[in-house]
Amino acid sequence: MPTSNSTAKASQGTSSFRRPRLKLLPALLLRCPYCGKSRLQKKGCFIEFDVGCVPCNYKYTREIGYFAGAAQMLNYGFAAVTAMGGGAIMVWKYSDAGDFVVAGIPAAFAGITSFLFIPWGRALWLWMDHATHPLNEDDQLVP
Ligand SMILES: [Zn+2]
Repeated sequence: MPTSNSTAKASQGTSSFRRPRLKLLPALLLRCPYCGKSRLQKKGCFIEFDVGCVPCNYKYTREIGYFAGAAQMLNYGFAAVTAMGGGAIMVWKYSDAGDFVVAGIPAAFAGITSFLFIPWGRALWLWMDHATHPLNEDDQLVP
């Protein structure tokens, strides 16, 4: 009768693939969310991410347009919260400044901060995706 350990080995096949532990803090520091050693961004780039983590042997981009959701969902949400907070402060402190100023300054601030948030939006997107869809053999850089 097979034990649970031998059943687990049989389901993994003969591959030596090991799933590392996912961590949030390295992702927030724009590092690999598994080992924390590799930078997520390409060297010298602010927005563009590298191909993957060499020590962990997995690619960051699982499919074409992988980070498009990060821009749409996380950065848009961050910009909206920033604009609402800035708008509330403008109405509270500078309500006599005029509609254009009261609405325009928070909108400009939200646009700038959402641009600056792009790497963290992508890193959070990567972390959330890996939290819900763990690494598998298809994600390896070098099979
Ligand atoms: Zn890594």
